[in-house]
Amino acid sequence: MNNRQLIKLLEEINKELHENKEYLNQLDAAIGDGDHGTNVVRGFEAIQEEINKGNFDDLTPKQTLKDVAMILMSKIGGSSGPLFGTLALQMSNGLDDTERTYLDQWIKAIQSGIDGVQVLGKAQLGDKTMVDVLIPSLETLEKNINDPHKAIKEAEVTAKKAMEDTKDLEAKKGRAAYLGKRSIGHIDPGSVTIYLLWKSINQVEIS
Ligand code: ADP
Ligand code: MG
Ligand code: MG
Repeated sequence: MNNRQLIKLLEEINKELHENKEYLNQLDAAIGDGDHGTNVVRGFEAIQEEINKGNFDDLTPKQTLKDVAMILMSKIGGSSGPLFGTLALQMSNGLDDTERTYLDQWIKAIQSGIDGVQVLGKAQLGDKTMVDVLIPSLETLEKNINDPHKAIKEAEVTAKKAMEDTKDLEAKKGRAAYLGKRSIGHIDPGSVTIYLLWKSINQVEIS
């Protein structure tokens, strides 16, 4: 993936999140404060504005991701702003600074991003957070490291299932944890956002 393709991906994510904004708010209304869709859309709209100004044009993917992280942290707010911001920032830190980036480099970057999210948010697998989708989809990438096209297709499939599986979990982190057992029976909104990222990756041309 080069920087031009990363920019296309960010635009696709923005579109996907817009289309799902109300759905994400509804999911969050059931177990949180109902703002998750609004939050992530605010972040990616700000990214779209930077793209429109051409501010990412001359960067490497690593540099673009770093700017994306800063925007997410400052625009999303709440508890998920720092989490999504850290995901992007630590992905940037874990990514080689080359014009073109390959699957093995992204695997390292995503691992670094997940580590950052877990250090900050302390969520483990099964706590009903975005981590429940991030970890299995990364494992799917690793299993398919020799076939990048298949890897991202399969990662989306894994992410979809993992997102749906958060429904049966009891929240141990974030606002939903205040509900205890009453959080069972609802899909975690942040997990849907991570699934939508994977869906977006498969909508754009990546080489
Ligand atoms: P807020 O709770 O501040 O309103 P959002 O509604 O935007 O923030 O985001 C909620 C999402 O953040 C949850 O669905 C969950 O996936 C994710 N989340 C919350 N706490 C954590 C955590 N400690 N670690 C990882 N993800 C978390
Ligand atoms: Mg919320
Ligand atoms: Mg909130």
